[in-house]
Amino acid sequence: MQNKLTSIARQYIEKTPKSAALYQRARQLFPSGVTHDARYMEPHPVVIDRAQGSRKWDIDGNEYVDYFGGHGALLLGHNHPAIVEAVTRQLSKGTHLGASTELEVEWAELIKQLVPCAEKVRLTSSGTEASLLVMRVARAFSRKKMVIRLLSHFHGWQDQTNFGVHSHFDGALPAGIPAEIARNIILCPPNDADRLEQILESREDIAAVMLEPTGSSYGRFPTTPDYVAAVRRLTSEHDVLLIFDEVISGFRCAPGGAQECYGITPDLAMLAKAMAGGLPGGAVVGRADVMDTLTMRSDPIWNRDRRVTHYGTYNANPLSACAGIAALKIIAEGEATRKVNESAEELRQGLSQVIDEQGLNWLVYGRFSEFQIFPNSEDKEVTRADIYSGAVPFTVLTEGTTQSAVFEVRAGMCLGGVDLMSWPGGMLSAAHSSSDLDQTVQAFDKLVRMWKEQPPVTAQS
Ligand code: PMP
Repeated sequence: MQNKLTSIARQYIEKTPKSAALYQRARQLFPSGVTHDARYMEPHPVVIDRAQGSRKWDIDGNEYVDYFGGHGALLLGHNHPAIVEAVTRQLSKGTHLGASTELEVEWAELIKQLVPCAEKVRLTSSGTEASLLVMRVARAFSRKKMVIRLLSHFHGWQDQTNFGVHSHFDGALPAGIPAEIARNIILCPPNDADRLEQILESREDIAAVMLEPTGSSYGRFPTTPDYVAAVRRLTSEHDVLLIFDEVISGFRCAPGGAQECYGITPDLAMLAKAMAGGLPGGAVVGRADVMDTLTMRSDPIWNRDRRVTHYGTYNANPLSACAGIAALKIIAEGEATRKVNESAEELRQGLSQVIDEQGLNWLVYGRFSEFQIFPNSEDKEVTRADIYSGAVPFTVLTEGTTQSAVFEVRAGMCLGGVDLMSWPGGMLSAAHSSSDLDQTVQAFDKLVRMWKEQPPVTAQS
């Protein structure tokens, strides 16, 4: 993309000169100039100054419809008045009270009210921390070591979960992850209940099966509801714990998450993002008997040998608790989730229409409050129905979405005033309006026309 600039890249550079200059400063400080791998973008990312509702503005003054949505945390959009009011009020009362608070109790009561499996709750500061804790709890309760994960399903960036996810599907390990740690994980292909059954039948050392119930990265590579039901049945039959990672799907698919939508209750779940209303926060929730491995008892042997220890300076910090309470009270009413799912469906239809009209081999798909754009760089024969039936291996979708195509789609959408996530695609909020959706469809139409005139080089950059 940098060697031979397409017209999209050239116009993007012209539109965002201050972002380009700041990116040069950032590169002197941060490896690759970014603070999260998913924010990396070529020729440079946009640098955002402020946001409101469904919109954000970069330091060049350009306005965007935002589908990054705080990495999915902003189900209610930017700066929802109830959240701003709650956090502002709390600021002058203290940002860290180093103690139990009424706020944390109210927050956890709301989580318990909404999430079917949440008999007990332990709060963390992020989804990755929740994944560390949930694995420890599952192993301590079952007194077994192995955890089964699904290839491509993301559960945070810790060593036990950050391989076989975005790359390295062949079993190789990304740099810095010790083989000794990876050996405690078994990777299973998604949507393959027979394979899972074989493993569960052949081993006695499985503590838990862990998955994103709607598919990896919320729905980029969807799992079928039948498969999730089969995983529930198989784990119950083999007395193995089932962990749902509802860091994104929680409170989005329905107020009670994917488990409410599918009517399938896991033993444990990880939560984060929407539950904290845009501030840092996460949780492990689940069956009371399993969660009680965290309980201190009067028995010193239990405390020393069986109890799970857990710390975290910012667990249940008052600002996150206030934001979370305000957000969950609104989410509990149900209207926000209904609206955001409806808007996403309208947007998927609008984008798909553009593809049909322009005669491209691309696909737009998604469920609930997300949309995925598949640029189909390898010209694969793929339909939406195939993707949802589980008939398309996720590798077909990864291979057809080259990095240069992702950058070009994102830069092209920015030209039309739309900021996408790096899937590429995005997540909607209840603040997205019909005019936001119309603008997005128009931006996409413009992108597709420019793309047809001058397709980018599709080799991985
Ligand atoms: N699980 C899933 C499904 C996620 O999408 C993410 C974050 N994208 C995480 C876990 C990790 O959460 P965090 O970034 O808060 O550590």
